[in-house]
Amino acid sequence: MFENHPDGFLRHLRRPIGYREPALRVADFRQISRFQWDPGQLRTQGERCMDCGIPTCMAGCPIGNIIPDWNDLVSRGAWREALARLHATNNFPEFTGYTCPAPCETACTLAINDDAVTIKDIERAIVDRGWEAGWIRPQPPSQRTGKQVAVVGSGPAGLAAAQQLNRAGHRVTVFERDDAIGGLMRYGIPDFKFPKEQVARRVQQLHDEGIKFRSGVTVGEDLSIDELKGQFDAVCLAIGARRPRDVPVPGRDLAGVLFGMEYLCAENRHQAGEPLHARMNAQGQRVIVLGGGDTGADCVATAHRQGAQSVVQISINARLPDVRQPDNPWPGSPQIHRQNYALQEGGEEAFSLNVVAFLDQDQDGKVDALELERVDWGRDDQGRRTEKLVLEAGIVMPTERVLIAIGFEGPEASCLNDARLTLTPRHTLKADVRKMTPVPGVFVAGDAGRGQSLVVWAIGEGRDVARQIDLWLMGESRLPASLQTAYPPLPPRGL
Ligand SMILES: Cc1cc2nc3c(=O)[nH]c(=O)nc-3n(C[C@H](O)[C@H](O)[C@H](O)COP(=O)(O)OP(=O)(O)OC[C@H]3O[C@@H](n4cnc5c(N)ncnc54)[C@H](O)[C@@H]3O)c2cc1C
Ligand code: SF4
Repeated sequence: MFENHPDGFLRHLRRPIGYREPALRVADFRQISRFQWDPGQLRTQGERCMDCGIPTCMAGCPIGNIIPDWNDLVSRGAWREALARLHATNNFPEFTGYTCPAPCETACTLAINDDAVTIKDIERAIVDRGWEAGWIRPQPPSQRTGKQVAVVGSGPAGLAAAQQLNRAGHRVTVFERDDAIGGLMRYGIPDFKFPKEQVARRVQQLHDEGIKFRSGVTVGEDLSIDELKGQFDAVCLAIGARRPRDVPVPGRDLAGVLFGMEYLCAENRHQAGEPLHARMNAQGQRVIVLGGGDTGADCVATAHRQGAQSVVQISINARLPDVRQPDNPWPGSPQIHRQNYALQEGGEEAFSLNVVAFLDQDQDGKVDALELERVDWGRDDQGRRTEKLVLEAGIVMPTERVLIAIGFEGPEASCLNDARLTLTPRHTLKADVRKMTPVPGVFVAGDAGRGQSLVVWAIGEGRDVARQIDLWLMGESRLPASLQTAYPPLPPRGL
């Protein structure tokens, strides 16, 4: 291995598959990443991997994908073997290959003083190739254990848990309150970031492996936890962390002020053929998006595609520096300012602005402006905002639509209607190291257990909880632990 490209990183520049031209892609709802890629280009990109001995990229990847192996296999054209290596740690590589922010790449050794290997695009190419060539097929288990497991929630955590548990031989039923399966991969993440046919074909694979799906069932309302426990040997709660953080200032109830998630889901449904209610259409409007994260960026990009007149994305925090600071060295994630994909398509970003009120100056019940103040924040030793210094008050910005995308406050645990399922101070579902809640046999995975996070973490959590459930049911398990479980973080120095 690696003998055929000992100096590939010296011979080849980084050339990712990349995205379609902003001016073209903003005119439609089709995927923003380029449709086609050249196998020869990806092979040379695989050659850039140095087999550096200590693969920090793997430590950067939350599921410990065996990145140097598949880089090398791709460089030699061994796509099918690369796919097997990829599936060994990741149930749904296209979920990550299209949406992951790729912390592996910032941890790549080449990134110390050069451009990282295009790890995410190689992952995407391997799995694209796998689907195209028909290599991805159902893998039902050869034996059944006689045990039954209920998985509540069909996001990436629930689906990964279900596939792992089913492959261990348990009979798995997935309960989902929405009408369609997929969690945020289906309703939330826009179609142009992740096309929904990609969710559907995985759901079909899981179905063909023997997993049952029951959509339109809200656990806690239609079925209690005790009823589930009566019918199943174990229960996994993968209900996400969808309680949106609000901006409780005067005027919050005005028409035109919405949570970003309501808006994004409405457009997902529209793309699936449902009519778009006028309340969810930003055409011709001056849109303000509150929140500088992923959800905010997706709102900006959706508003542009709907034909908004202008879009401003506002962050309460100061703009990050353009280059790494001395207290933020490699291989940590770089805390630097990067223009997100949505702003590359248009719109403006603004920083250090705090919302004071939503205004209705003509008294028609609809928002027509936002009152803001420019601020500077004191920080505690954890980097949390403490005292506020107002630098400029009374800033008024006209708008017909405000989308609130300032984060999430944990799972909607109240809908489970079970007093034994409590929240931690971090607003996550309480569980022990086995991921078991205070209710014996009821486990938790994904955002519900770690707070709103990333698709890759959700997949890793789903894999880990499946192993814990298997151990609890059978006393032993052949399911793999993720890198994070196999190698838990070291205790602080000096202990
Ligand atoms: C707009 C947006 C964009 C994002 N973009 C990215 C991105 O680009 N890259 C990335 O890595 N991450 C992204 N994320 C984060 C990522 O989507 C989540 O971390 C991930 O989906 C979490 O998976 P999960 O399975 O834990 O939960 P979810 O995907 O939230 O799924 C939970 C499921 O449980 C169901 N459910 C809840 N309660 C019940 C109940 N009582 N009964 C039955 N079903 C129930 C819900 O309907 C939902 O389908 C984004 C998040 C948002 C909101
Ligand atoms: S899942 Fe994300 S972090 Fe892991 S290899 Fe893929 S792109 Fe990198």
